[in-house]
Amino acid sequence: MKFGGTSLSQASKMKNAAKILQKFSASNKIVAVASAIGETTDQLAAIGELAKKGDLKRARKLLSKVQASHRKIVPLIAGKAGTRELLERIEQLNSELERTVEGIAHLRELTPRSRDYLLSFGERLSTPILAETATATGLRTRPFTGAEAGITTDDNFGEAKPLVEISYHQIRQRLEPLWNRKVVPIVTGFVASTVDGSITTLGRGGSDYTAALLGAALAAEEIWIWTDVDGLMTADPRIVKDAVLLPNVSFGEALELSFFGAKMMHPRALQPAAQKKIPVRIKNSSHPSVNGTLVSASELPNGGKVVKAVSLIRDVGIVTVSGTGMMGSPGVAAKVFQTLGSNNVNVMMISQGSSEATISCVVANKEVDRAVRALQLALMGQGFVDKIAEEKDACVIAVVGSGMKGTPGVAARIFTAVARRKVNVRMVAQGSSEYNVSFVVSHTDGAEAVRAIHEEFNLGH
Ligand code: ADP
Ligand code: ASP
Ligand code: MG
Repeated sequence: MKFGGTSLSQASKMKNAAKILQKFSASNKIVAVASAIGETTDQLAAIGELAKKGDLKRARKLLSKVQASHRKIVPLIAGKAGTRELLERIEQLNSELERTVEGIAHLRELTPRSRDYLLSFGERLSTPILAETATATGLRTRPFTGAEAGITTDDNFGEAKPLVEISYHQIRQRLEPLWNRKVVPIVTGFVASTVDGSITTLGRGGSDYTAALLGAALAAEEIWIWTDVDGLMTADPRIVKDAVLLPNVSFGEALELSFFGAKMMHPRALQPAAQKKIPVRIKNSSHPSVNGTLVSASELPNGGKVVKAVSLIRDVGIVTVSGTGMMGSPGVAAKVFQTLGSNNVNVMMISQGSSEATISCVVANKEVDRAVRALQLALMGQGFVDKIAEEKDACVIAVVGSGMKGTPGVAARIFTAVARRKVNVRMVAQGSSEYNVSFVVSHTDGAEAVRAIHEEFNLGH
């Protein structure tokens, strides 16, 4: 069971999470995974950026806020007996965090490695708090960091990849024995470490991934993701008022949705679950009796509907490489993607004009500058490419559903619906799985485009 940051954001929610653990552990063997409390990870990332710029004053101010929010929650959740020890633990982590921030500010340097170390404090703080909260309800618990639980990764800081076989082996060895003693292990989401002990993170939203890895290693019956909505819905309920719950979603559909839904679920989280065919259930921690969404290997017919859901990913930009010399010259595309790859730029979407004179890639806004610089260095002045253009502040709309496969006319309906609302489409791509059509619009048009499609395909009914 993984508890998202939204399910741990206040003392009352912590207690609620503990109650859920207590209830289900009566007749199940459970491992819990804790995310950072509320927005802590975003705040830590912001602190890192401020410290790197040398703005220690503002960094410290935000830091105090993070420290205080954890300190404050302790007396509210734990029984008297445990509070003191937990407070000491929190203060120890708080001062370690402070030294980390000072260090970054002194060096004016935030490497992917030191950033992971900084971000890890979110889960390292929340996990002992959840463990103590559960202990206060009478459960026996033990907090673990991801590394202590056995998750070992490569050293691709910021988006580290688990070394699956050794991790699975270690997880079984370290966590299984606790069940015999009726102890519920509570593991930091998102955080792991390399073989030599450097802290790594699994990428934003990575607590879902932690849960899936632990579930796969321990051959769980199901993996449950507790969040603040009833499950996966036809669209983000913050954008579309009449979005409805999807009771069943296949791994393939969930993968497309999570990749493009950005925050809803970590895209790689589904891999270990899908591989071992372990169903993933997404549930609302405020309404635990609601069934939620079951993500599984079966592709159930969707009441005759071709489109199942539509999602929006914000903060992206388009980088376009063009040049008349690109026509008919093999290898230019390879060079483009190799350059982006070796500069750690994650390409979310690609399209190439049939004239071959342009290749456009969608990347995160924050990676646009790095992508352009790298491409300029690698490609300009060789006679193939004569322009590298960028557009920031766009968003991707992804329309997902396995029923789209082989159904003609879906794309026409999508783009007619969007055009009717006078939204300009900048770029289009279709996944080869045919589970998804995605396109790029200006960030000011994103919500409107999502609503247009939701309405066109009648997803609210
Ligand atoms: P957690 O803290 O539990 O990980 P997140 O904020 O990462 O929670 O994800 C839950 C949020 O994702 C919801 O509050 C909702 O606004 C948003 N969301 C985006 N797309 C969808 C969707 N298709 N279905 C449900 N929620 C969605
Ligand atoms: N706390 C991390 C994040 O915000 C991981 C997670 O919540 O899944 O990205
Ligand atoms: Mg999340």
